[in-house]
Amino acid sequence: MTLQFNKIFIFLTGDDSWDLITCYCGKPFAGRPMIECNQCSVWVHLSCAKIKKSNVPDIFNCHKCRDSRRSSH
Ligand SMILES: [Zn+2]
Ligand SMILES: [Zn+2]
Repeated sequence: MTLQFNKIFIFLTGDDSWDLITCYCGKPFAGRPMIECNQCSVWVHLSCAKIKKSNVPDIFNCHKCRDSRRSSH
């Protein structure tokens, strides 16, 4: 079961994604709130993205996309 509110997803216990690792910190979802990168569609923990649940941006870009945009072109 997945709860969605605003742009954040919270994966509840029993979901197959519980152990999925997409965040650059190398740790699984583990039921923590995630946010999806607008460019590469990678899921990142809110805490790793340094985003507060009460202050979620409409468009989120992960640090990789921000870095590539800055260094290339
Ligand atoms: Zn993380
Ligand atoms: Zn990205």
